[in-house]
Amino acid sequence: MQRHDRDGVVVLGAVAVQNALLYSRTQELAIRDSLTGLVVRRYFMERFHHEIKRSARKKEELSLLLLDIDHFKEYNDTYGHTAGDLVLKHLAKTINGMVDETDVVGRYGGEEFVVLFCGRSREEAIAEAEHIRMAVEEHPVMLRRRKASLTVSIGMASYPEEAVSEEELIRLADNRLYKAKARGRNNVCSK
Ligand code: GH3
Ligand code: MG
Ligand code: MG
Repeated sequence: MQRHDRDGVVVLGAVAVQNALLYSRTQELAIRDSLTGLVVRRYFMERFHHEIKRSARKKEELSLLLLDIDHFKEYNDTYGHTAGDLVLKHLAKTINGMVDETDVVGRYGGEEFVVLFCGRSREEAIAEAEHIRMAVEEHPVMLRRRKASLTVSIGMASYPEEAVSEEELIRLADNRLYKAKARGRNNVCSK
């Protein structure tokens, strides 16, 4: 039954409003990781799929970056799990502050992050990846009032030059991340 106020205007039920708010909040929660505020892997994969389609349509390039914190286990072991969480938050903020609105940043797994550079050339993406690597290195995280150094290794792969499917781009980026670690960490591997 519709309710009306004194002027005859339909009053939206408070419950309906609450439900709408709850719904959008639930949607947000399903998309974003509560610790870092970045989009979760499942949502990232959906975006990745759509961004590739869009790039194909627009004949644009796209690059995928996989980032993994170097020696992350040591933060947990030395300072505890809560400090480890602080490191993840700090890193998410650093990366987020360095990308455009059209780019996508996600939390891929525990201490692994993903960045999608959309509509940029492969060369630009390589330069941006290097910027991110340097920014992380130059912004130490404060743990117990002390500066703790932080570095990441990055594996990168580009559409359409190197691969056209999501699976293949992820496989390439992942192999290169592995290579970056083997090379001594704190570096970007794009080949
Ligand atoms: P590498 O340089 O080879 O990447 O070394 P690493 O220590 O970073 O790698 P490893 O995979 O051995 O360790 C990852 C650790 O990340 C293990 C796990 O306990 C921790 N981790 C994963 N997710 C979280 C999280 O949400 N919070 C915290 N505090 N730790 C996490
Ligand atoms: Mg890892
Ligand atoms: Mg790691």
